[in-house]
Amino acid sequence: MLVVGAGLSGLIAARELQKNGISTAIVDKGPSVGGRLATRRIAGGVADHGAQFFTARTNIFKAEIDEWLSEDLVRIWGYGWSDGSLKRTVSDGHPRYVTNGGMNKLAKHLAKDIQDLEVDVRVTDISWIEDHWQVKANNHAAFHSQVLLMTPPVPQSLELLSKVTLAPEDRSALQRIQYGPCICGIHVIDGEVTLPEPGAVQNFVEPVYWIANNKAKGITDRTILTAHASSNWSRSHFDMPDEEILTFLHEAIKPYLGANATIAEDQIKRWRYSVPLITHPRDTLIARGLPLVFAGDAFGGRGRIEGAYMSGLEAAKSIMEIFA
Ligand SMILES: Cc1cc2nc3c(=O)[nH]c(=O)nc-3n(C[C@H](O)[C@H](O)[C@H](O)COP(=O)(O)OP(=O)(O)OC[C@H]3O[C@@H](n4cnc5c(N)ncnc54)[C@H](O)[C@@H]3O)c2cc1C
Repeated sequence: MLVVGAGLSGLIAARELQKNGISTAIVDKGPSVGGRLATRRIAGGVADHGAQFFTARTNIFKAEIDEWLSEDLVRIWGYGWSDGSLKRTVSDGHPRYVTNGGMNKLAKHLAKDIQDLEVDVRVTDISWIEDHWQVKANNHAAFHSQVLLMTPPVPQSLELLSKVTLAPEDRSALQRIQYGPCICGIHVIDGEVTLPEPGAVQNFVEPVYWIANNKAKGITDRTILTAHASSNWSRSHFDMPDEEILTFLHEAIKPYLGANATIAEDQIKRWRYSVPLITHPRDTLIARGLPLVFAGDAFGGRGRIEGAYMSGLEAAKSIMEIFA
């Protein structure tokens, strides 16, 4: 069994498969695990520049979060965000969870218990040869596997599977899935910031819909803001030069800088696939006529971290039921 992608869905699937005695390898193209659970080091501090927090609606995910809380891996950051009009956020009663030390720590924690995990392995070519998958990677490695689980964002998975004949219904269901891009600014601030408690604003009508203080979030001692531009703005400005993007992001964060605060340093990250906008209704897609399963946050209609988690879990269950 081979899992492509060690983001949350791939890690959860690999963990469950291995726990149940299914021999499973997992590879990721990144230098580290986590995918969009991304935390960056900057100016002696850290900032989450992918997923910012997570919520839970299903009892299954809530039960896992309870474990993570007891291990001091995650904690509650707050119960809602101001849209920028209030100094203090009014609670909506739903906990927003963050990972201590940054979101990527959650992925690293899960990866600790997973065997046969390789990073820096970019899959470049996938073929179905008679009775097994042959998966080639940039490091000249070739993996042979009976069953394949694909967890990259679906357009990337489809590109990797371009040589494989998928049933037309499956191909069109997968092609319907869409993600929004996100241009993210990471801004190191000298001085005070005035974001409403607990330290973030979220306002989906604004072209920069999310501004958060990683220090207030409790993951770093340095004041570092993360700013996310909306999908619409990011799509139409994706190739804009960095300098112009920074000018735009600086205007958005300016109202939240204290009187003497200055921006010491910034970085930009462009996410081509940030969150799914059109999802597949089921938690996974099991290809017709091939031992091939697709999973990730775009499956199950939930999106986001909880969607990735539930999809990974369901993928492992289906693989054990159908193929093991
Ligand atoms: C800017 C941004 C903000 C977000 N905010 C939130 C939020 O506040 N709350 C929330 O719940 N969710 C948020 N999300 C979404 C959340 O991060 C995702 O839903 C979740 O992390 C997706 O996990 P996944 O396993 O489905 O996919 P991914 O994390 O994308 O994992 C896929 C993995 O596949 C790997 N891969 C891709 N191609 C290859 C290849 N060719 N070879 C090998 N490996 C490959 C990638 O490196 C990656 O690690 C945000 C995401 C972004 C980008």
